[in-house]
Amino acid sequence: MLTVADFEETGALLTGHFRLSSGLHSDRYLQCARLLMYPDRAQSAGRDLARKLAEFSPRVIVSPALGGIVIGHEVARALETRALFAERKDGAFALRRGFALEPSERVAVVEDVFTTGGSTREVCSAVESAGGEVVAVGSIVDRGLEEGVFPVPARSLLRLPVPSWPAADCPLCSRGVALEIPGSRSRG
Ligand SMILES: [Zn+2]
Repeated sequence: MLTVADFEETGALLTGHFRLSSGLHSDRYLQCARLLMYPDRAQSAGRDLARKLAEFSPRVIVSPALGGIVIGHEVARALETRALFAERKDGAFALRRGFALEPSERVAVVEDVFTTGGSTREVCSAVESAGGEVVAVGSIVDRGLEEGVFPVPARSLLRLPVPSWPAADCPLCSRGVALEIPGSRSRG
């Protein structure tokens, strides 16, 4: 099973003092792509998530581009389903590239990370617009989703809340710890 150690060993979870894309400061930074760049770990995460989603009998996996594509593909491999992805077009997610769903086809929407659940819900809408039925949603990491965000069951491999603060309230700023911008640190 995937553990926090997998994230730390691959540099997918960094500890320090970071300014997140939201502008908030945090002592952790999560970048799932760093875990998924190892195909064996991606495959094993996909297998674990597939086990949690199997009870809903999805016939297709749909993921948001780009972050969800790799894990969606691995979940689909384990469940022996198709792996589709949705892309933003004029701001809204849609199935493109000739991707199509059968009428009422059972779909699991698979993401790398649930943060607020907003983009996952948008992909669910795109699936419904394409005639599919979303039966479950899944992610590798749940950053602390609130109850009832999705109208269908949600499954994640790891719950990993990342605390964050406005700069003015940041305990690391007040201790004078140097601030890092994620992505700019060089690591081996
Ligand atoms: Zn700070």
